[in-house]
Amino acid sequence: MCPECGSDDVRIEEYDFGRCSETGYHDAGERYHCLACGATGDGDDLVLREDEECA
Ligand SMILES: [Zn+2]
Repeated sequence: MCPECGSDDVRIEEYDFGRCSETGYHDAGERYHCLACGATGDGDDLVLREDEECA
């Protein structure tokens, strides 16, 4: 869920910019976009919710 507002209305978008000419590293990963508050950021920053329904 969104770390800014706590909404579950979050889209995950993969990106791939190929190899960075400056660092030589392959620049790819996931970004999130919150549809509730408009926040965006690295996919690793998303707050993973524990599965409470599986008690
Ligand atoms: Zn949000």
